[in-house]
Amino acid sequence: MRDLKDVYLKLKEYDGRYSLEMYSYERTLIMDAIKRLLPAKAMPEINSLTGKKEYNYWVCPNCNQIVVGMLDYYYHCGQALDWKD
Ligand SMILES: [Zn+2]
Repeated sequence: MRDLKDVYLKLKEYDGRYSLEMYSYERTLIMDAIKRLLPAKAMPEINSLTGKKEYNYWVCPNCNQIVVGMLDYYYHCGQALDWKD
């Protein structure tokens, strides 16, 4: 998130003079931030022995860590989560 703040401040500093040629590093950070703001469905954990989906745990689609509770945003990576269905 610190990197994102740096990019935000840099974009503000350019204040409209920023050309279409954005550095790919900055573009990657911005795209990653936007992706995390769009709610993504939490995935059921896959049992590594049987290969079957287990609905005891849910996994973040962004960082693959176990999500405890139905959170709107996952605190590890900031991914917005969609719990519909
Ligand atoms: Zn995550």
